[in-house]
Amino acid sequence: MKLKIAIQKSGRLHDDSVKLLKDCGIDVKNGMNKLKTESDNFPLEIYFLRDDDIPQYVEDAVADIGIVGENVVFEKQKKVTEVEQLGFGKCRLSVAVSRNEQYTGVEYLQGKRIATSYPVILEDFLKARGVTAEIHEISGSVEIAPGIGLADAIVDLVSSGSTLFMNGLKEVDTVLKSQAVLIRNNELAPEKLAILEKLLFRIRSVKKAKNNKYVLLNAPNDRLQEIIGLLPGMKSPTVLPLAESGWSSVHSVLSENEFWDIIEKLKDAGAQGILVVPIEKMIV
Ligand code: ATP
Ligand code: ZN
Repeated sequence: MKLKIAIQKSGRLHDDSVKLLKDCGIDVKNGMNKLKTESDNFPLEIYFLRDDDIPQYVEDAVADIGIVGENVVFEKQKKVTEVEQLGFGKCRLSVAVSRNEQYTGVEYLQGKRIATSYPVILEDFLKARGVTAEIHEISGSVEIAPGIGLADAIVDLVSSGSTLFMNGLKEVDTVLKSQAVLIRNNELAPEKLAILEKLLFRIRSVKKAKNNKYVLLNAPNDRLQEIIGLLPGMKSPTVLPLAESGWSSVHSVLSENEFWDIIEKLKDAGAQGILVVPIEKMIV
């Protein structure tokens, strides 16, 4: 029994999706320009598809699970379950208008023509805010719509904003924040669920490791307690004596969020020779 996963064939999510599987220790035979491939060291069959089609295939059980942007999941409204946010493919679905326009708030959109590839999400957004507008669905190059007089505003995916800028537009509101997620079919057989659990365990270990760093430092013994007090660690930090008397080596794990803050405090507390090392997997 194998679990069938659908990932994007090519595009912004392809490389990170394959990398996630590889980081999970799953060999993926090179499958570019092929419809599917499989792993020889994990019961997984990998299908390469257009991202827009992935929710439908997962609903229909052509694939058991899939990796796709949350924006696509919300737009397609298929009967699938989101299992895990994956931390890549981050973007926003934003409202943009011509650089010269004065956007006063969502009421600006009342009665306007808005071009988007996300009519379902946009309609919900407007309805929730009591705004009525004309939604023009277009499938690509949404950002040129205002310039050719097709729309007064657009709702499109943005990450850096450079595409908007090049088209004389500015981002003025956020409709949705999105990232890649793992979705699953709602009625997986128990054997497939068991494989999914194994995969999820690995994915979570990889995600946790990415968010954490292994830190080694030298601490003067007279300030050891103060330094240990600054380190949260998995349990308590490892402390080893250095060959030079009066000094100890301290090892611990720090999360990305608190990292810079704590490093500063460690230096102030007299820590020296601080080494920060990436963690490959983290099982807690
Ligand atoms: P396909 O050929 O598979 O239909 P596509 O052209 O529709 O591909 P991509 O542009 O590769 O799709 O984007 C795939 C996903 O990447 C988006 O749905 C979104 O979740 C995410 N993404 C991240 N950043 C951006 C961005 N700046 N613009 C568009 N999508 C982004
Ligand atoms: Zn697409």
